[in-house]
Amino acid sequence: TTKVGVRRNLDGEQVRPLKLCIIGAGGFIGSHLCEKLMWDTHHSVLAVDVYGDKIQHLLAPGKSWSDRIEFHKINIKHDSRLEGLIKLSDLVINLAAICTPADYNTRPLDTIYSNFIDALPVVQYCRVNHKRLIHFSTCEVYGKTIGSFLPADSPLKKDPAYYILKEDESPCIFGPIEKQRWSYACAKQLIERFIYAEGAENDLEFTIVRPFNWIGPRMDFIPGIDGPSESVPRVLACFSNNLMRGEPLKLVDGGQSQRTFVYIKDAIEAVLRMIENPARANGHIFNVGNPHNELTVRELAELMTDVYCKVSGNPRPAVPTIDVTSMEFYGQGYDDSDKRIPDMTIIKKQLEWEPKTPVYDLMESTLTYQHTTYAQAVKKAMSKTLAN
Ligand code: NAD
Ligand code: UDP
Repeated sequence: TTKVGVRRNLDGEQVRPLKLCIIGAGGFIGSHLCEKLMWDTHHSVLAVDVYGDKIQHLLAPGKSWSDRIEFHKINIKHDSRLEGLIKLSDLVINLAAICTPADYNTRPLDTIYSNFIDALPVVQYCRVNHKRLIHFSTCEVYGKTIGSFLPADSPLKKDPAYYILKEDESPCIFGPIEKQRWSYACAKQLIERFIYAEGAENDLEFTIVRPFNWIGPRMDFIPGIDGPSESVPRVLACFSNNLMRGEPLKLVDGGQSQRTFVYIKDAIEAVLRMIENPARANGHIFNVGNPHNELTVRELAELMTDVYCKVSGNPRPAVPTIDVTSMEFYGQGYDDSDKRIPDMTIIKKQLEWEPKTPVYDLMESTLTYQHTTYAQAVKKAMSKTLAN
């Protein structure tokens, strides 16, 4: 059901229905954002993507929101229709990107084109046509923490000043050029600087989002089921795939890297606040993550194994994890972010937003989705392989 009643922003002002041009609307974040906008608001969406599978359920005719969403199958690299769609909208949200680490060192050119070159015209169309832009960057622009350069036994490693990532203070620390992992972060950093400069010199109204490992249903794909069998998705889909196949989870370089995970539905609430509160969001860069949900990758593997056994009823595997080197898993040029804890001061102050969902709960709902969506298909694919 749709609530099309009056919406008010954080300052109690009425929010008029907006037309949003969402580029990359068919991806993981885009699909959840479109759901939120269709189910809980009166806003309209021009959904731009090369794929629409993840929003098919919203595009089916006869829904109460059907007149508020329109899918445009467009590759923004070369399609003159893009500027026309931007002209029709009040606000542009750009999510389009190559954003899986397995691509950064193996397809560095595509990564740089996608995250910088292809994003440039979007910024320019927004500036020329006086449209507000919400651009999706990444927590990876912080790169490594200052603390990662301290000796392993330094007591300063425990001092938050050496690892907390602050939008307006922390430096961006990347590895050498031959570590092509950083091609993504570097391209994202340059588009952030470009957008910031358009704001400073030409009054572009912008907001930049730095997601910290948003996870939930529809993230990436399961190799060999709804994506190429030789491709490597992000860690949630890699581990889900291993669990459904009953194979050990692969820990890259010891699984010592740390991440904070935020539930997609919490994070989408933050994006909606940015959409509906331009006066509080314009000109800002926002970390969006959950600083309380920190795990090492090894701990993540343990948690996912426990939760998957619970939701599937499967017994605990005899060999839950194996170690692999990053060279074996990702190939040459891989490198890693050591630790990612977002400072939440700015988003708390500007948008009064805080994440809610603990990591166990978000994993339980996500793995329940993975199991019900994919487990049968994985079983079938495995028995086919065995028969051959
Ligand atoms: P995703 O891959 O699921 O979504 C990206 C979408 O953009 C895809 O549907 C893809 O088809 C589309 N796209 C890419 N190039 C396009 C083009 N040339 N023309 C049209 N469509 C194109 O990824 P996501 O997780 O939803 O991420 C969205 C954004 O958020 C990205 O910019 C990413 O860098 C950023 N981000 C996400 C996370 C996270 O935790 N999920 C973390 C950091 C940054
Ligand atoms: N990783 C892993 N095994 C896998 C997939 C990923 O150990 O099967 C690690 C990866 O090396 C990184 C972390 O998990 O340290 C998170 O990877 P992800 O691809 O989700 O993206 P990132 O957070 O690095 O952007």
